[in-house]
Amino acid sequence: MPVSDHVDLEQFMRGVKRRNPGQSEFHQAVQEVAEDVFDFIADKAAYHEYQVLRRMAEPDRVVSFRVCWEDDNGSIRVQRGWRVQNNNAIGPYKGGLRFHASVNESILKFLAFEQTFKNSLTGLPMGGAKGGANFNPKGKSDHEVMRFCQSFMTELYRHVGDDVDVPAGDIGVGAREIGYMFGQYKRITNRFAGVLTGKGLEYGGSLIRTEATGYGAVYLMQKMLERIGDSVEGKICAVSGSGNVAIYAAEKINQFGGKVVTLSDSSGFVHDPAGISEDRLEWVKELKTVRRGRISEYADEFGCSFHAGERPWRVSCELALPCATQNEISGSEARMLVENGCIGVSEGANMPTELEGVGVFKDARILYGPAKAANAGGVAVSGLEMSQNSAKISWKEDELQKLLRDTMTGIHDRCAEYGGVAGSSHIDYVKGANIAGFVKVGDAMLAYGVV
Ligand code: NDP
Repeated sequence: MPVSDHVDLEQFMRGVKRRNPGQSEFHQAVQEVAEDVFDFIADKAAYHEYQVLRRMAEPDRVVSFRVCWEDDNGSIRVQRGWRVQNNNAIGPYKGGLRFHASVNESILKFLAFEQTFKNSLTGLPMGGAKGGANFNPKGKSDHEVMRFCQSFMTELYRHVGDDVDVPAGDIGVGAREIGYMFGQYKRITNRFAGVLTGKGLEYGGSLIRTEATGYGAVYLMQKMLERIGDSVEGKICAVSGSGNVAIYAAEKINQFGGKVVTLSDSSGFVHDPAGISEDRLEWVKELKTVRRGRISEYADEFGCSFHAGERPWRVSCELALPCATQNEISGSEARMLVENGCIGVSEGANMPTELEGVGVFKDARILYGPAKAANAGGVAVSGLEMSQNSAKISWKEDELQKLLRDTMTGIHDRCAEYGGVAGSSHIDYVKGANIAGFVKVGDAMLAYGVV
């Protein structure tokens, strides 16, 4: 029997910071989970004795590698790639690949840690991982992106596999990049296997995968509102980002009768008080996925305002859906949202709210769906893509739509089960998501003993 090691939260976080120097995003993600988990395990000795959270906060492995490619001018470029396999206690590693200039080990470790809890919450058998490279696809030709993706997969293929680790897309990795990487995997291994999700429909992809993350974030918002007798219908919504998650979150808000008044990208946000209607959103899809243009062009096209270098959180709204990137809502922006009448936040992006902002939302007792619950719809449909690939079948759209809705309802209910606030009917969805995610993975780890 291992010796009991009852460190407190402060000692635990000091250890995390000492072992992972300078990795502030990773510290932030672990701290947010540890605050809730430490309360929960206070009277549960086995989790302490077997150091379950300590082991979850130490990735199973971090692989880092060189990625060389040749640009259109014949110059050799050298990038760094990573795959962080955080935990496979409940299933093969699963999590996206991010291509963005800002990518580093800290960001990928935070994402892989979060992914472990998120995947657990879906109820599907998937472990947590994340990967990517400090490569910026913006402004690169299709051929340059192809050469980069092929070079990246030439190393990554050793570490992934349909029962080992199944990456998907994330920032900067969409259908085009997945296609190039899958093509290279197939060429190297001579295997047509479900090793990536987010594939094109012609070669093993699943219907509604593209829409699933954004739709799922709105389904969770709707469930939280329904629980208090309200709905998305008629609500003014601020959405950030204009990529995959933001576009489909906006689409689902429109379908539910809400009004989306903002979208953004890394250069600023547009404010359209008339509402970003279905046809305007189709225009944005074309702008972002075909022409790969900037969101400021929307303001010119539809005669509304563009705010360079700003984020949309000062616009008054009832619901906010951050769908761009991490740490895009500061403490003061969270306060501004609440003061301006925001009653619900559903996080399409991963860790978009700084720790201070999380505290503001929790204290104000608004409906606050954290990323690991709110954006789990994407990985859930990825899990369904894996099942379809294994069984060599394709499910119909209505079946998948129902599975996505049911999954988000299940996530809502799991959060509600563990997120009750004593003496009130309020649900702390952050606490609920952290604990529900932890329990399933933690219990599997206890079953395996010390490994
Ligand atoms: P995309 O690359 O499709 O879009 C990202 C959007 O965010 C773009 O509008 C981009 O603007 C903006 N953005 C990126 N970095 C910054 C920044 N530093 N400041 C301001 N805006 C920024 O990515 P996704 O939509 O796929 O991902 C968005 C978020 O959702 C990420 O946090 C991701 O981890 C999370 N997520 C995605 C899932 C998916 O299925 N795709 C699943 C679960 C979570 P610009 O074009 O100017 O860079």
